[in-house]
Amino acid sequence: LACRNGVTSHGTRPPGARRDLCRPGGGRLAELLLSGLTRRFGDTIALDQVSLEIADGALVTLLGPSGCGKTTTLRLIAGFIDPDAGSIHLHGRLISEPGRSLPPEDRNMAMIFQSYALWPHMTVAENIGYGLRLRRLGRAEVEGRVRRMLDVVRLDGIADRYPAELSGGQQQRVALARAMVVEPQTLLLDEPLSNLDAGLREEMRFEIRRLHDAFRTTSVYVTHDQIEAMTTADQIVVMNHGRIEQAGPPEEVFARPDSAFVAQFLGGTNLLRGRHQGGGLVRFDGFTLRSGSGRLGQGETALSIRPHEIRLVGTARQGEQNVLPARVLRTTFLGATRDVWAEVELGGGACEAPAPVFRVSLPAGVPVATGEHIDLFLPPEHCRALAR
Ligand code: ATP
Repeated sequence: LACRNGVTSHGTRPPGARRDLCRPGGGRLAELLLSGLTRRFGDTIALDQVSLEIADGALVTLLGPSGCGKTTTLRLIAGFIDPDAGSIHLHGRLISEPGRSLPPEDRNMAMIFQSYALWPHMTVAENIGYGLRLRRLGRAEVEGRVRRMLDVVRLDGIADRYPAELSGGQQQRVALARAMVVEPQTLLLDEPLSNLDAGLREEMRFEIRRLHDAFRTTSVYVTHDQIEAMTTADQIVVMNHGRIEQAGPPEEVFARPDSAFVAQFLGGTNLLRGRHQGGGLVRFDGFTLRSGSGRLGQGETALSIRPHEIRLVGTARQGEQNVLPARVLRTTFLGATRDVWAEVELGGGACEAPAPVFRVSLPAGVPVATGEHIDLFLPPEHCRALAR
C-alpha cells in the first residue's frame, strides 16, 4: 500500500475492505476515488478490482505495458464506459457504478487524445475557443480567455493559423490549451506525446508539467514511457494485467520497488532468485549475498540490484561479502556511461545453474574490455529483497 502526496493505491483490495486514506492538507476530500473497479471485454478482464485515491491538484500517471488496463481506467473515469463492478466518486459524489453512470459531458472533465483531434477547418484560436462557445459564453469572455490561454501555451503569434500549418508540438499545445481553457475539474491525458519525435516529446513533458504547476488541475496521465512518467508526475501508478502493482512518488517507486515487475519495468534491474537462509543472507547456486533492503521472507526470495549500484573493486577485496569475481562478456558505450555485461566466475564447475550475468552501468571513462576479469561489489543496502 503506497500512500503519499495525494494518491493511495489499494491494489486489489475488495470494495468495502479497510482503506488507508491519505489526505494531504488534513481531511481534504479526494478528487477522485476509484473503488474495486472491474471491467471485462468478453473473456478479457481489462481491469481487476482496482482501487485508487487521487487528491485535488495531483498529477498522476498510469504507467504500464501495452494492454495492462491504463486506457480502460481513463475511459471509465471519463464516463465513456461503465464498470462491471466497483464505483467512481468525484468529490464525494457517485459518478460511475454498474449500469448507472453520469454522462461524460456532465463530469466537468477534459480529455486529450494521442491524435490531438483538432478541428482542421478552425484556426488555432477557434479551436481553443470551441469548448467555451459550446458552453454559450459571451463573445468578449471567449476572446479574453482564448487570448490568455494563447499566451500561456506560447502560441500568441500564430492564432490565425490552421492545424495543417502547425508543427506536431504546436498542435499538441493547441490540444492542451483547448482542454485547459474550459477550466475542467479533471484533465485526462491519453498518451498525449506519443506522436511526437524524441526532442519535441522532451520539450512537451516540461510544458505539461509547467501548465500543471500553473493551473493545478487534477490530472490523470496515461503513458507506457517511464521517463515521461518520471518527469511529469507527482505520483506514478504502475499497472500490470489490469491491477495496480505499486503507487507512489517517482523517487520512491524507483528506489523501493515492491515487486520484480516494478523493479524491471521502472529503470531496469538485475534480478536473482535464491533462498533466504536467515540473517539477511541469501543463498544462490555457488555464492551468497547479504541483502540490506526490502522484505526478506522465509525461503525462496528474489533480489534486485540496479546496474548503476554495482561497483568495481580491486582484487584485494576478493573473498569479502558481496564481492563477486566476474568476466566481461561485452560492453556498450552509451556516451556518459558504459554498460558492461559480466558473468560471475563461480570456479570449480560445481554449480548446476548457469552462472548469472550482471548488467553494470559504469562511467564511460572507466576502462573495461571484453574478456577482462573484474571484481563486482554489490552493496548490501542496494540488494533489495522483493516481496513479490
Ligand atoms: P495500450 O498501452 O496498448 O493502449 P492499455 O494499458 O491502455 O494498453 P487497455 O486499452 O486498457 O490497455 O486494454 C486492456 C485490455 O482490454 C487489453 O487486453 C485490450 O485488448 C482489452 N480491451 C480494451 N478495450 C477493448 C474493447 N473495446 N474490446 C475488447 N477488448 C478490449
